[in-house]
Amino acid sequence: MTSNHSSSSLETFLDQSLSDLKSKGLFSDIDVLDQANGPVISINGQKKINLASNNYLGFVTHPELIKASEEATKTYGVGAGAVRTINGTLKIHQELEDRLAKFKGTEAAIAFQSGFNCNMGAISAVMNKNDAILSDELNHASIIDGCRLSGARIIRVKHSDMKDLEEQAKEARDSGIFEKIMFITDGVFSMDGDIAKLDEIVKIAEKYDLILYVDDAHGSGVLGGGAGTVKAFGLSDKIDFQMGTLSKAIGVVGGYVAGSQKLITWLKSQARPFLFSTSLTPGAAGAVIKAIDLMEQDTSYVDKLWENARYFKEKLQRIGFDIGQSETPITPVILGDEKLTQTFAGKLIEQGVYVKPIVFPTVPFGAGRVRNMPTAAHTKEMLDEAIKIYEKVGKEMNLI
Ligand code: PMP
Repeated sequence: MTSNHSSSSLETFLDQSLSDLKSKGLFSDIDVLDQANGPVISINGQKKINLASNNYLGFVTHPELIKASEEATKTYGVGAGAVRTINGTLKIHQELEDRLAKFKGTEAAIAFQSGFNCNMGAISAVMNKNDAILSDELNHASIIDGCRLSGARIIRVKHSDMKDLEEQAKEARDSGIFEKIMFITDGVFSMDGDIAKLDEIVKIAEKYDLILYVDDAHGSGVLGGGAGTVKAFGLSDKIDFQMGTLSKAIGVVGGYVAGSQKLITWLKSQARPFLFSTSLTPGAAGAVIKAIDLMEQDTSYVDKLWENARYFKEKLQRIGFDIGQSETPITPVILGDEKLTQTFAGKLIEQGVYVKPIVFPTVPFGAGRVRNMPTAAHTKEMLDEAIKIYEKVGKEMNLI
């Protein structure tokens, strides 16, 4: 194999940084999956029960989504051909946004190519250096990056701490130096599975005139009958930005903001990933529309997800693991130490349960955990088998 050119300073940087990461237990290789990312996956021909995906409703391999994707591809082609503002919007993208708005109970919606660049684009299209953003300290990386990109003053708020939020909101408002002040939060926190206190947040926002932005990547398809955290609280008319992903419960790819017509018109003229990057494939749009149809017509997907999640959590807890304070299907097994977390996850994977060790910087130092995502697609037998393996490895490592 010929080696690629690289400058000596780059080589030095990469060698030192990679070995530093490895010595701290902060590096993991990426596995290659032989088949689709379903409830059971295959790696190098070995089957494993998959508890690492965000495929909450099992839609990744749903035959009706696959058919809808094929039909949209046949009608519109494999790609959009150009950025929407340059070459027009395909009807299916318009249809997708109309369906998202209806599903979320808002006037309009805008779709992006991913949840990550949706946050980057939407936050920075509205907030600027004259503004302040209050941001929950456990918010997702894409929110943090979107806030940084905007140039606004970023004020960290203690996690789900309403007293701290109120104090910081008051201080920012009283300072008189900010044109706009936003509070931004995950609807469901992706590493702990707790739900933002939206009812209290709305009251504080009304008092201090805060713009509210909820990233509901892990609430959509899970709470509120699938429509998300905001719907579950009955607050669709109180949240300015209902952001979500199309890559988790929906099973496809993409991100969106649902909100007022005026907001969406602004984002479509200012959000840079919308203006300068080619949109979702027609096939993805077709599959997402079908996913929304299914959730609206049939509650059994969301019901099954919750039934499985409750079953799995109760069993994990009963055998003695600390599963934190999750209020949703996200099920962390909290161990603390980074290396211990990596070793534990490695043994689980070896024995046939595919999980993700989550360590710094995704969670704070010393808060390492193995995250489990039971889905609607798992059978009770799969979950029982996973628990058996958890118990065996937990005992071997003196963790339970
Ligand atoms: N927000 C949150 C809270 C997330 O968990 C994720 C997914 N990791 C994203 C945004 C980004 O979404 P996507 O994977 O669709 O880019």
